[in-house]
Formats: sequence, C-alpha cells, structure tokens
Amino acid sequence: MRRNRRVKLVATIGPASESPEMLDKLFEAGVDVFRINMSHASHELAGILHERVREISARREHPIGILGDLQGPKFRLGEFDGERVNVVQGGEFVFDRDEKAGSPNRVFLPHPQIFEAVEPGHALLLDDGKLRMRVKAASAERIVAEVQIGGALSSRKGVSLPDTLLPISPLTEKDHKDLEFLLGIEVDWIALSFVQRSQDVLEAREIIGERCAIMVKVEKPQAIDDLNAIIDAADGFMVARGDLGVEMPIEKVPGLQKKITRKARAAGKPVVVATQMLESMITSPVPTRAEVSDVATAVFEGADAVMLSAESAVGKYPIEAIEMMDRIAIEVENDKGYESILHAWRTQPLPTPSDAIAAAAHAIADTVHVAAIVCYTETGSTALRVARERPGLAVMGLTPIAAMANKLAIVWGLHSVVVENELVSVSDMIDQACRIAFEQGFVKAGEGILVTGGVPFGQSGTTNMIRIAFVNEKGEAVASG
Ligand code: PEP
Repeated sequence: MRRNRRVKLVATIGPASESPEMLDKLFEAGVDVFRINMSHASHELAGILHERVREISARREHPIGILGDLQGPKFRLGEFDGERVNVVQGGEFVFDRDEKAGSPNRVFLPHPQIFEAVEPGHALLLDDGKLRMRVKAASAERIVAEVQIGGALSSRKGVSLPDTLLPISPLTEKDHKDLEFLLGIEVDWIALSFVQRSQDVLEAREIIGERCAIMVKVEKPQAIDDLNAIIDAADGFMVARGDLGVEMPIEKVPGLQKKITRKARAAGKPVVVATQMLESMITSPVPTRAEVSDVATAVFEGADAVMLSAESAVGKYPIEAIEMMDRIAIEVENDKGYESILHAWRTQPLPTPSDAIAAAAHAIADTVHVAAIVCYTETGSTALRVARERPGLAVMGLTPIAAMANKLAIVWGLHSVVVENELVSVSDMIDQACRIAFEQGFVKAGEGILVTGGVPFGQSGTTNMIRIAFVNEKGEAVASG
C-alpha cells in the first residue's frame, strides 16, 4: 500500500481504538505508527496490542512502527481528606513529609528528591498548571509556598517544577520494568518522558543498547537548555506540547516547536509533533479551523510525523481524526508554497559518503526526471540522510531487516519494503529495485529511478554507489528510458 503523503501519522492506542477491527481501520485510514502509552497500559494489554499491530502489518505486508511510551518520573501529591479542597489565592501552602491526609493549607508530598532540590523563588505548578505557587522557604521536611493562582485541588494531582533541576533518573522503578517488557516484545521505539539532560538519554542507552531506537519527549525547560546534546544522544524526538505547555509559558510552545523541529531535521533524526492537534475531535466529528491550521503548520515545518493522543485513545471519532490528518497533510503537501517553506530550513550535507550520496540523489532528481529514490539500507542511515534532504520525489527504503523497516515507518517520506538479501551483483540490486518500485506503483514504464546502495553487499554502513535506472513495461531494468 502506498500512502499519498510524506508526513507520517502516529495514533495513540486506548479503549476507543484497541480492538483488532479498530486498529485495522486506523491503519487503513492512514496510521503509520501506533503508540502504546505505558501510563495507562498493563504489560498484558501492551503485549496484546503489540501482537495485534504486528498481525495487521504481516497481513497487509506493510511495515508499521510501534512506539512504547514510558511514563517517566511524574510527581504526584498525597491524599486530601474528602473529595477536594479549595486553595486560597494569596495565602500560604505547605508541602511536607507527613503522610496524614491534606487540608486547604498543607499536603503530603511523597518525593524526597523535590525537598532536596527546590529553592526559594522556584515555581511549583499543580494539576497541569491550573494552580501556581512560588516557593518561599524549603528544607528537607517542609516547603512553604505562596499561592499565586489558587483553586480546587484533589488527591494525587500532578506536580511540576519548571525551575528545578531534579537529582533523579529519567527511569523510575516502573519504567525499568516496563522497559524490559517492551524490549522483550521488540517494540521499534521507546519514548522517554521528562528527560532533563543528555545524561538521562545515555543512561537509558546503557540498558537499551541497539535493541531499540530512543525517542526523547521534549517537555522540560531543562531539556531545552541541553537540547543540542540531547539531539546528539537520541534517535528521535517528540515535541510533547502537553507537558511542555505546563512546564513553560504556553506562548513559548510554538517557537519551541519550530526550534526542536529545525534542529532534529538538521540532525537527520525524526521529530514528531504531538498533543491537542485535533483535540475537539475527542467529542466532535469535525475539528476547529485553528486545529486544522495547527496540523498544517507542523506539515509545512517538515516534521516527520504528527500525532493523535486522546483523540484516538479515548475519543469518539478516532478514524475521522486520522482521516482528517491525512486530508490536511495531502492538501498542504500539494500547496504551491509547500516546497519553498519546507526548504527554507534545508541544511548542508556533512562530509560523509552517505550525505554525499543523499545530496547527489537530490541534485540528480532536480536535473533529470526520475520517479523515486530507492535506498538499500541496513542501518537505516542512508535512508535517513536521504529523507533529511526532504526531496520532492518518492523515497523507498529497501532493507533485509524487518525491524528496521518498522523503525523507519516514522520517517518523513520513507516507504520501506523488506527484501530478501540474496543479491550477488550490482545489476541484481538494480533489477530488484526496479521490480519492487514498479510493483508498488512508485515508477511506471519508461520512467527512471535512482538507486543507492553499498558494495560489497551485506556490509552495513558501506553506501557508496548511486545509479540511474529505467524500467520497461514489465518492470524490468533497462539501459535508458
Ligand atoms: C505530552 O505531554 O504532550 C505527551 C505527549 O505526553 P503524555 O501523553 O505522556 O502526557
């Protein structure tokens, strides 16, 4: 199956979408990658969802990515006495280490690390930023805060500390267990939540190794401060606008989205724009104009993927939401202004063979008419570097490794196909590339393709060759068009 757009679609699975029928319909409607959110899924459920997605991928003969999203160190308040309390604006509120039920003036905070790290003047946000406080005094036992914005507060609401660098690992005990499970079932991507610094990514990499790709959810101000090193350390990024808009002033989110997207694109690593993209479609079959414009902006910016969260997990219209994203993406990508906006951010190739090949492929495609660039790829590197160029023609990634095809499903413009690795010569390679591109509708008789690959065969990281090939009416390679 060939998608009619370059940007990829990610859908979060939840009660509204977890049945085999719904997952299949979502794939049909355009989903390239499914997200399993470990904040809500048990191991048993995650295992079942993983099997369902793999079954669809095998039956449809189309790679589908699976992203396992770890909950990360989310801080929560202790319990209050009764349903909720009203915290008064302008008053004082105390967080302490006493487990007894809270009142309108105090509550138990079950995280000693916060007491260690917080300092007078730091902000303390509760319940996704609905309540705001400023720390006046802090010790190992007690934090006294001034209430700047008060309101109703109930047990176990989330606590955010945008100004505080916390001495914590990005992986909680639950995350460690979830991670081992997700690596065991072989998901394609692991998303790390609440990353603060590049060291957090390296710590996760120690455990994950090369078993899976690592996506950093950029949602903490501290991560923005260490963004360059985080971009070096991880394999992909999510602009996690939900928590980012709590931890930072919400009006900074659009600029940060652009900055993260631009840096990820420059590094040639996939970037996903996430959260509240079509929020009103949780309850309505039609989105707002502003939401449509928001999705379109991410597509114009050249993000690799756009993501649905609650819309597909618990919403009433998951299929309609994916269809809507698909339609917006196709419209934007056919807009006359698209190419110039997309390439306003084009970055220079690095002095490496794969960048030289990627840039040459782009330049050739600008000179002679070819229908597609077909990249043989084992490590994914050449395909990623070609996608980084955001070329105006289709890009296919041919790989003998099924897990690589699934991982690359999130990458802008890349259509991956799993191939048998029995090639013995360059002409074998060209024949196979022409046949597959023809069979899958990427090239017609008389048209040409560009093929990139490496000689000798079967050695990863050796891409050093680019060829122009033409196909005849049987899909065979011929010397000229
Ligand atoms: C976000 O905060 O935007 C996000 C994607 O993370 P989660 O859905 O885990 O809150």
